[in-house]
Amino acid sequence: MAEILSEVVALEAARARLADGETVAIPTETVYGLAADAGNGEAVARIFAAKRRPRFNPLICHVADMAMARRIAVFSPLAERLAQAFWPGPLTLVLPLAAGAPVHPLVTAGLDSVGVRMPVGFARALIAAFGRPLAAPSANSSGRVSATSAEAVAADLGTRVGLIVDGGPSPVGVESTILKIDGDRLTQLRPGGLAIADIEKVAGVTVNRQKGGRVVAPGMLSSHYAPRASLRLDAVDVGEGEALLGFGAVRAARAKKARAFLNLSPKGDPGEAARNLFSHLRALDETGAAIIAVEPVSHTGLGEAINDRLARAAAPREDETDRSAS
Ligand code: AMP
Ligand code: MG
Repeated sequence: MAEILSEVVALEAARARLADGETVAIPTETVYGLAADAGNGEAVARIFAAKRRPRFNPLICHVADMAMARRIAVFSPLAERLAQAFWPGPLTLVLPLAAGAPVHPLVTAGLDSVGVRMPVGFARALIAAFGRPLAAPSANSSGRVSATSAEAVAADLGTRVGLIVDGGPSPVGVESTILKIDGDRLTQLRPGGLAIADIEKVAGVTVNRQKGGRVVAPGMLSSHYAPRASLRLDAVDVGEGEALLGFGAVRAARAKKARAFLNLSPKGDPGEAARNLFSHLRALDETGAAIIAVEPVSHTGLGEAINDRLARAAAPREDETDRSAS
């Protein structure tokens, strides 16, 4: 099983493992990440192996400062402005890959663009100590619920990583917002921990939503963030044996019949709901309920990211055998 070390004492141990080409699970403000040296193909391959992640899915590169960011990506004036406003923080910018960038092609899936983010706290300090960018997707088995605590990482990947750094509960709770910048054109590739309205205020232009990225119907989405139980969204009542994931002060009918109940945010605050989303999903899943009924969640602010994750978690599963085996 993985060693778990508090972030207060873990910096040198984590740095040494990364230098040896190993992966380390680290806390970030969004969710826990599974990090490796972005320039070392073997190290990056270990991320894909531990997560059982398809290799066509690129990884986000995490940097400690703007000098490091400029070594891997080309920043337009608009990209500079957004980085200035929101970094360190839960915003990933997809930018042209810089010539000679110390990033292995496995990280970008061979694309000529790279996703870049500057995280806060331990993650940023570790990258600074390491001196090079770290590739880091979420620290969970591909397709499953993301981890927002060291315990959740251990439960999922404990036999597949050597070191988990414990930084307590993730303060944002959902993954970063991913924004592609082409000239003056901004496209949100994934809603996340930074609300689009905040980006538009700084950018002074409207952010486009990626076609198909918008949640139109669950059937159009590939399954992701999925618990073992199936999810029933926008539930206005509770069925026999179902667990209930609530939001706000108004309860679904027959809520008292639920085999378990957790509320994302009793006061209806999307920020609080984002922090609780993955841990509540995991906890309700652990009750063994076959179905988790989910009350309607506000779409404002971080509500867009929450509804995106819930819709993907509710999407039909293509690989039930893989899922039940893990
Ligand atoms: P995660 O699954 O949280 O590791 O986030 C990685 C996601 O970032 C990928 O699934 C892509 O959607 C996105 N991404 C990373 N790098 C790029 C890139 N170069 N171009 C487009 N999207 C990217
Ligand atoms: Mg993920």
